[in-house]
Amino acid sequence: MKDIRFYSGENIPLERHKVRIVQKLYLLPVEERLKKLQEAKSNLYLLHNKDIFLDMLTDSGVNALSDNQLAAMMNADDAYAGSESFYELEDKVKELFGMDHFLPAHQGRGCEKVLADLLVKPGNIIPMNYHFTTTKSHIVRCGGEVVELLPPEALECESDLKFKGNIDIDLLKDVLAKDHQRIPYVRLEAGTNLIGGQPFSLDNLKQTSAVCRSYKIPLVLDASLLQDNLYFMKKEDPDCKDLTLRQITKKIGDLSDIIYFSARKLGFARGGGIVLREGPLVVPLKELIVLNEGFHTYGGMSVKDIAAITVGLDETMDMEIISQGPSFIKYMVDELAKRGVPVVTPPGGLGCHLNALEFVPNIPQEQYPAAALSAAVYLAGGIRGMERGTLSEDRNPDGTERLASMELLRCAIPRRVFTLSQVKFAIDRIHWLWENRDLIEGLQFTLEPKILRFFVGELEPVSDWQEKIVRRFQQDFGDSL
Ligand SMILES: *Cc1c(COP(=O)(O)O)cnc(C)c1O
Repeated sequence: MKDIRFYSGENIPLERHKVRIVQKLYLLPVEERLKKLQEAKSNLYLLHNKDIFLDMLTDSGVNALSDNQLAAMMNADDAYAGSESFYELEDKVKELFGMDHFLPAHQGRGCEKVLADLLVKPGNIIPMNYHFTTTKSHIVRCGGEVVELLPPEALECESDLKFKGNIDIDLLKDVLAKDHQRIPYVRLEAGTNLIGGQPFSLDNLKQTSAVCRSYKIPLVLDASLLQDNLYFMKKEDPDCKDLTLRQITKKIGDLSDIIYFSARKLGFARGGGIVLREGPLVVPLKELIVLNEGFHTYGGMSVKDIAAITVGLDETMDMEIISQGPSFIKYMVDELAKRGVPVVTPPGGLGCHLNALEFVPNIPQEQYPAAALSAAVYLAGGIRGMERGTLSEDRNPDGTERLASMELLRCAIPRRVFTLSQVKFAIDRIHWLWENRDLIEGLQFTLEPKILRFFVGELEPVSDWQEKIVRRFQQDFGDSL
């Protein structure tokens, strides 16, 4: 892919698509934003979409569809069993990953549920580069334990490590040597979500695969964020320089034993599925899919979504298309860093991640600094990010807080959705908040669910700090929105 340079020398990302369907956005006045935040109990998941100006919560299921996806959706073949659209998707997945079977699921966590139900027994441990929220909950639900094997440098927010998602091979060898009888599979996550959308390298995958194969332990790849991982491999990985995206994807398939993904991310659509070679796991997994997700030619997805994934996976093999997310994210990260705002570097996929431990160092982790920052960013610009820190962890069995190793506010950039001026607006408001960070204080629960508490838990500010932010905003911005 060739870069496009500006005559002026300005270094900005450029949209490589045109917008043909639009949705009107509303930016509420700041006092209204406070009211909506209070109604949502300071939990941005509980906001209504109409009250949000820029929804940077997630990249999941909110990516823009392409003209070709929409066209395929119109033409999807509706059937409970044997939909032609399913077979087209199955063929596409086989073509890209070189595997024999595709088992559809309603979304990524549906895949995680059936994999954990089949493979994880009480007392098992599952080594991985890093956990994802739903992955861990399903493993723990089945009596397993997650063991994370990233080297300490990968958890440093500011870094110039290019492949922060790389599993530590020596640690993996140690764990397998000691505990291989308790290990049903090793899991590697592409575009490692919770540490800032950070990729692994092809060589790391090769080594992980070789170690797993020497113990005959399957390697399970969570490919939900494979699109970003592929982008960084093609751009930064010397082993991939001379390979096409299709060749890299095929190699990834060859080195993995089971691949699963959320098609709410990979494939720009909604849905998910498990990909694997012929073998003893196929039939029991298929049974669990039929039981939990739906018949194995739809797996809980609508046929329209199935048709959209087929086209979306093909579009993932186009560097001009998959470069859009990471290049806009890089712009946002670089511009915030220039203004002194603490952000995770190098810029990864998925979104721009603010480091709350430095942004609001006054807030103890027990008062959820990243969640407090997310509430403040909503007040500052009607922007919804997602807390990824202690609030996203469930408590230890003894009721104590499990303090997260990172406290991040993720401002996701859904694929192909935002324009550069919208990203600039987000940078501007986050910069303003950084200059006024002394006002931000913590949050506490008023209603705390036991599992995945961040989704529906209710909180309140520990003081009247949210009102103070509104007053400072009105001083600085007058009657502007
Ligand atoms: C989103 C995600 C999942 C879960 O997928 P859903 O479609 O949201 O259920 C699993 N793993 C990773 C890495 C993800 O990013």
